[in-house]
Formats: sequence, structure tokens, C-alpha cells
Amino acid sequence: NKSILFVNRPKGKPSLDDFKIVEEDDPQPGDGELLLKSVYISVDPYLRGRMRDEESYIPPFELNEPLESMVVAEVMESKNEHFKRGEYVSGMLKWKEYQTSRGNGLNKVDKNAAALSAYLGILGLTGLTAYLALEKIGNLKEGETLLVSGAAGAVGSVAGQIGKLRGCKVVGIAGSDEKIDHIEFKFGYDEGINYKSTDNMAEAIHTACPDGVDVYFDNVGGEILDAALANINKDARIINCGAIASYNEKKIPTGPRPEGALIKNTALMQGFLIRDHAKDFGLAIRQLATWLQEGKLRYDETVVEGFENTPQAFLDLFDGKNQGKMVVKV
Ligand code: NDP
Repeated sequence: NKSILFVNRPKGKPSLDDFKIVEEDDPQPGDGELLLKSVYISVDPYLRGRMRDEESYIPPFELNEPLESMVVAEVMESKNEHFKRGEYVSGMLKWKEYQTSRGNGLNKVDKNAAALSAYLGILGLTGLTAYLALEKIGNLKEGETLLVSGAAGAVGSVAGQIGKLRGCKVVGIAGSDEKIDHIEFKFGYDEGINYKSTDNMAEAIHTACPDGVDVYFDNVGGEILDAALANINKDARIINCGAIASYNEKKIPTGPRPEGALIKNTALMQGFLIRDHAKDFGLAIRQLATWLQEGKLRYDETVVEGFENTPQAFLDLFDGKNQGKMVVKV
């Protein structure tokens, strides 16, 4: 039974040296417990934040302890009346091949209703983030322009498609020409901007969004946020969902810089945190699942095979190697 420990707090970009794979005894479930076998592990940019020894909305990882993230697992044995052997669950679990749990915080998932990995993406926290951030902050109206960064990623690709379903013009920002072609072709983005080959992002956004930006779904922060703010309309809404551009910075740069943009446009910029919206998950999942069934919503996954490749899959997020949700098949 392998387990992945967090052994070093990275300064700057994390590396494989920050992780250690160890062999442990097989766990035995006690009374009221389950034995779980990990099937899919989610790797997410926000885990970088938990590697810092800082107070946040979620406690930092402890050194020499296993990392954790959302995992889909199979119940191998149950001494808990609420779960049966052979059922599948999702929840915040450790990076272990096998582990025991008392069942707290685990949700059963139906393997016949959707692919098991989908419960970590389109029907999991990233799909929910796209949907609920747009519901709670975006307030999209037909005919408006939605700009999405991280547009080919797990959250971004869903946000863009919801923008189209709401009758908006949708422009996406991503890090390669292949990703731009892909989001236009598969997800219906009206236009895309490759930020890695564009010198002047503010100008490129202006060209792609000649009527200005009404809603900016920000997954990256940094200079792309500055460029987006230079193009916002009166009463624009800016969803501050993520800032991956600065997660590996040793010193967080100050910003956003065009502060006047918010004032003169009386724009709203609001942080969004998915874990504050648990009471809305049921309705949101039903809506996402309905759109999926109707073929109105599509999704991408990058599936990395092998438990021991979990750290590398996490590192690859920062090099944009994923298209859609990055998951590890154990
Ligand atoms: P993604 O699937 O979007 O993967 C990360 C992507 O970020 C990469 O594929 C890469 O794409 C892009 N990226 C990496 N480095 C940079 C950089 N320096 N500048 C710009 N883009 C970069 O991840 P998620 O969809 O899971 O998450 C997207 C964002 O949403 C993250 O910032 C995450 O922290 C945040 N988030 C926030 C939540 C909340 O509750 N607030 C919940 C879930 C996610 P490319 O090739 O285009 O560069």
C-alpha cells in the first residue's frame, strides 16, 4: 500500500523532491469504518497554497504527512451501516492507494450515471465553481461579453460554455494555439487569445471584445487581470476565482494595477470560494448533469495513469500540460 508524503515546503515552483512515495502496511477497518481503494485522484492548482505554512481558508499540509485532495474511491470493506462494499464515494481523502475512513464528508457517487472521473471535474468542484461563480457573481445577461482566462482548463472550459448557454459572446484566454483552436471548436468560444504569443494583452482583448468586457472570469490573476481590467465596461463584474499566475511567486506582486478601472466603471470585483456554497451543490449538480445529458455541455479530461505519477500530474498543471480536468487514474 503506497502513500505520498509532503516532505518539503517549496519556495517558488514545486518539484518532485517535495514529495516522497512510501510503502505502508495495509490498513484494517475498525468498527464503524470503511476500507477505501482510491480510483481517481484530483490534482488542483489550489493545493499549491496548502504547501505554504500560512493561515488560509484551509490548513496547510503538514510535513511528512500524506497530501490530500478530492478522490473517488471504491468501498472494499464496510463496518459502517451507511456504506456497502462495492459502492463508490467521493471526498477529501489522502494520497494513499488504500485507507480507512469513518465515512464523514464522503458522498456516494453513481457509476452508472456518469464516468467516475466526472465527479472530480464537470460534476465535482471545478464544474460547480464555474456554475456557481457565474450564478452568484457573474449575473450574465444575454448579449453581454464574457471573458474567461484559463479558458481550456477544468473551471474555464465549463464557464465558457455556460456563457454561450446564457446567450453571451464568449472570449477565452489560454496558453497555446492548439488550446485556442480546441476551445473554439469543442466548447463554442467565439474567439480565443494565446497569451503566450501575444505581446500586448490589453490590445488583444480590445480587438477580441470590441464592445468591452461585461464579465471577466479570472482564473489566473497577474498581468492578464491587468489587461482585462483595462477593457471592462460600466458595471462590469469580475470574478476573482483563481490566480495561478502567482501561486509559485516567492513574493506576491502587488496589483491589480489599473485601480481606476473599477472606480470609473463602478465595477464589482468579488472573490469566490466554492466551499462557501455547499448548500447550493445539489441544485447546481442537477443543472450541470441535465446540460450534460442534453449534450449542451461537454468536457475534457487529462487522465494520468498510475498512483506514483500523482506529484508529476500536479506539477504539470503549472506548465499547462492539461486540457480540462487533470486527474490521476490509480
Ligand atoms: P486548470 O484545469 O485551469 O489548470 C491550470 C491551468 O492554468 C493550466 O492548464 C494552464 O493553462 C494555466 N496556467 C498555468 N500557469 C499559468 C500562468 N502563469 N498564467 C496563466 N495561466 C496559467 O485548473 P482548474 O480549472 O482546476 O483551476 C483554475 C483556477 O481556478 C485556478 O487558479 C484555481 O486555483 C481556481 N479555483 C478556484 C476555486 C475557488 O473556489 N475559488 C475552486 C477551483 C479552482 P494554459 O496552457 O492556458 O496556461
